[in-house]
Amino acid sequence: MIERLAVIGVGLIGGSLARALRANDAVGEVIGCGRSIEHLERAQALGVIDAYCQDPGKAVANADMVFIAVPLGAIAGVFARIQGQLAEQAVITDGGSVKGSVIADAVQVFGEIPSWFVPGHPIAGTERSGVEASFPELYQNRRVILTPLAETDPQAIERVRAMWERVGSEVTEMSVAHHDEVLAATSHLPHMLAFGLVDALTRLGSNDEIFRYAAGGFRDFSRIASSSPEMWRDICLANSEALTAMLTRFGSEMTELSDAIRRKDGEALLRIFGRARAARERYV
Ligand code: NAD
Repeated sequence: MIERLAVIGVGLIGGSLARALRANDAVGEVIGCGRSIEHLERAQALGVIDAYCQDPGKAVANADMVFIAVPLGAIAGVFARIQGQLAEQAVITDGGSVKGSVIADAVQVFGEIPSWFVPGHPIAGTERSGVEASFPELYQNRRVILTPLAETDPQAIERVRAMWERVGSEVTEMSVAHHDEVLAATSHLPHMLAFGLVDALTRLGSNDEIFRYAAGGFRDFSRIASSSPEMWRDICLANSEALTAMLTRFGSEMTELSDAIRRKDGEALLRIFGRARAARERYV
């Protein structure tokens, strides 16, 4: 049971965790923290948080659990504001989509890897943002990856694991580098393809006509291009190495496909499509 949870960044990810913990009677009081009073008032009116303040340092005072769910570019600033303000037994975790950059921010601000910080990433989300988009079932039957380091206190890891399990998630642990490589392939690359596809079509001109004939396949594929541009800018900048490596590999795949089409090589096309379909049916 968490007595006092501080959620820094009460949007889709932070708001959904607060709602889910409440729905499972796993939290006493929830304090929200963010930049906009208007959004925080909305979060309070929706019953996501009990109280709010705009200063992360004040929000974390007396909290036994702190969840940081701001865009990656804002995490270092939050660390700086909570430094020296934490309660003695407090555990801090986050939901940032890239882990290497968050850990680098922690080292830069705190001068070391803090033992009470458990880096995390819920593999759950939608293309929508803000507290209005949050819902209590978001984490049910979803995975959460924790990337603790040698310095991380095992008890802190256990408390964060227990919190995610209470809201129905399956918790796994991974190294930081492995997390960032895996997510570059399975999440960050597909978002680049969706943004890139819609942008390329837009730049073909006569958009009305192009999008008028876009059917179900296009709708499915392009859904994630409605995701927050600022959030995705931050993810790209934070995971640039792993993501550019994936984009280069994907570029080779597109060249191979394009060459096969130009050669009218039906065998090669069947090989590529068959391999992809079998993999999707097996794993997705
Ligand atoms: P969101 O835009 O819905 O919410 C972010 C919240 O943080 C907003 O309420 C915003 O006002 C607040 N905020 C921004 N800058 C701030 C600052 N400097 N101080 C305090 N609050 C600030 O975004 P989200 O989808 O909830 O994403 C939050 C985090 O979760 C990001 O780090 C993202 O990488 C990660 N994440 C997102 C998804 C997803 O699918 N959306 C999935 C997993 C992880």
